[in-house]
Amino acid sequence: MTIARLALDVPLHRLFDYKVEDALRLQVGLRVKAPFGNREKIGVIVELAKRSELPPEQLKTAELIDDGLPPLTPDFFRLCEFASQYYQAPLGEVILQALPPGLKKPNPPQRRAGKAKTGKPAKAAAPALNAEQEAAVHAVNISREYAPFLLYGVTGSGKTEVYLRLIAAALAAGRQALLLAPEINLTPQLETRLRERFPDTPIVMLHSDLGEAARERAWRAAFQGEARIVVGTRLAVFTPLPDLGLMIVDEEHDASYKQQEGMRYSARDLAVFRARLARLPIVLGSATPSLESWSHARHGRYTLLCLQERAVSGARLPDIRVLDTRRVKLADGLSPQLIDALRQRLAAGEQSLIFLNRRGYAPVLACPACGWISRCPRCAANRVVHLADQRLRCHHCGLETRIPRACPTCGNQDIQPFGRGTQRLEAMLASVFPEARILRVDRDSAKSRAQWEKLLQQIQAGEADILVGTQMLAKGHDFPRLTLVGVVGADAALFAADWRAPERLFAQLMQVSGRAGRADLPGEVILQSEYPEHPLYRAIAAHDYPGYAETLLGERRQAGFPPYAYQAILRAEAAAMETALDFLRQAASLPCVRDYPDVALYDPVPMRLFRLMNQERAQLLLESPSRPQLQAFLPVWRETLTTLPRKNKLRWHIEVDPLEF
Ligand code: ADP
Ligand code: ZN
Ligand code: ZN
Repeated sequence: MTIARLALDVPLHRLFDYKVEDALRLQVGLRVKAPFGNREKIGVIVELAKRSELPPEQLKTAELIDDGLPPLTPDFFRLCEFASQYYQAPLGEVILQALPPGLKKPNPPQRRAGKAKTGKPAKAAAPALNAEQEAAVHAVNISREYAPFLLYGVTGSGKTEVYLRLIAAALAAGRQALLLAPEINLTPQLETRLRERFPDTPIVMLHSDLGEAARERAWRAAFQGEARIVVGTRLAVFTPLPDLGLMIVDEEHDASYKQQEGMRYSARDLAVFRARLARLPIVLGSATPSLESWSHARHGRYTLLCLQERAVSGARLPDIRVLDTRRVKLADGLSPQLIDALRQRLAAGEQSLIFLNRRGYAPVLACPACGWISRCPRCAANRVVHLADQRLRCHHCGLETRIPRACPTCGNQDIQPFGRGTQRLEAMLASVFPEARILRVDRDSAKSRAQWEKLLQQIQAGEADILVGTQMLAKGHDFPRLTLVGVVGADAALFAADWRAPERLFAQLMQVSGRAGRADLPGEVILQSEYPEHPLYRAIAAHDYPGYAETLLGERRQAGFPPYAYQAILRAEAAAMETALDFLRQAASLPCVRDYPDVALYDPVPMRLFRLMNQERAQLLLESPSRPQLQAFLPVWRETLTTLPRKNKLRWHIEVDPLEF
């Protein structure tokens, strides 16, 4: 009898033995329906064995799924196994989360690999490359083995053009190309450019906005080799591709490559591992690389490719001015200089963008009489005033109520919104410029993909004079008539407790500045600040990513933070903070901790957002100068943690390489 060892989507670090009827067709990589408890689950056969440790009468029978899908391949399993080990996630969960939802249903409707769409538009001609682009393309194209590249190129320097050339070369060599992008649903321009350049090539997009059927069709087309270009968000890194020849990770610094629930993996880091497994070149591209990647490049682990100038001839980087707001009188937060600049753009028929990375009308509603503020009853956060729909809304748990007319505590009718979000800015601009067409772009005005595309169209068609937006607007868009970017409210992030905040702020400001003056019109950026001398702003004004990266790396080295140390976090959630902290204290004092002297454990502490949805949250940070040491410790520790008694529905998880604390 042959035993099938199954990966099942359950939170246990083990495989499950089953009998399968159709022994002749048994193969590793096929899916089966397996009875599990009183339910039926989809499993993937990971191993075949001659015998089981279970007595035969206890073995249940699983049934092969016959829907024409070829077996999953060894390289797919190796990537999943690596992810499972590195991120301390059960193999079954990793394998099953990597499959499109349609393939995880016990009784799916029958589907075939759909036709990967070929681009409809007429073929767009490729511009002649400039010398830097040429050098970058050449360096990648001559590599035959695993070769990681960091493509550092200022905004508009033609990184995407380099990707297109590399993809063309991969296609010509009969290979598939995988391009990861942080939020492709937000940047339809990338898809358009690919379809225009490769009108005859089957291309699929893989992201979670797709309906279940469409996603499964696209995934099958990729897996069966019919799709030659695969573009996807982080989950697409797992897509098995028979002819993979090239991987590209665009905007490699972007935090959305990090999965924030379930298995908390970094798609960028997994992509690099996958390139190593498959012995392929991989290109990580960014105008503001993550400090991890930058430091790899500096130490020669990645080859650095630079694009230092804007690609369109005559296009220059925008002039960035940091405006000292201590010396000017602000009108509702706007300086006279910024208002003047906006007025000039209006007169010239050009577009402006004001960047404020905070949505809603005001971050808090407060009663000056008694000190009441609009706290969220479920979270350690304030509910935000949304005047547009008259709601108080918690951005963490979604709880919302009507805006009260009077203070709920003392009855005072004069309660006030404090601080400023995009809605308030929009209202102020409307009163200063009644004749202007103002468009607010944030997660509230662009809730659905349809709304978002409509907004983008309006902007492209020149139907807006002033855009007010959050970082949604900062990413990868090309607005040819946009010549002015104003930045307000950025100072708050300078003093955030999170030590990664400066790295993120720098990337955001660089990116939003990059929206100004893309084509023949020169761009200007006015950044309002009370700390104009801050090194971060000086570096922004000088367009000096490399210099600022050195500064930050110096600080990180001194503090012993990543990339000079490797971290993991154990988080616990419970109804009471003491329960969570108690669990972490026990975890920290387990005997196995002493066997790994190179792994330091910090004291358990409440998380910054220490309550979410009525769950109290605490964390324990682990740090080691040695990644192998940390990696050796984690599975041992994790195993012991599962044996600790868990009181009061306590839940815990481990995150490796955490980005947020
Ligand atoms: P990035 O991805 O670095 O922001 P893009 O690849 O989008 O830059 O290029 C910015 C603009 O420059 C695009 O309009 C693109 O068509 C154009 N471009 C890119 N490379 C060249 C080139 N070699 N010659 C002329 N224009 C170019
Ligand atoms: Zn009050
Ligand atoms: Zn809440």
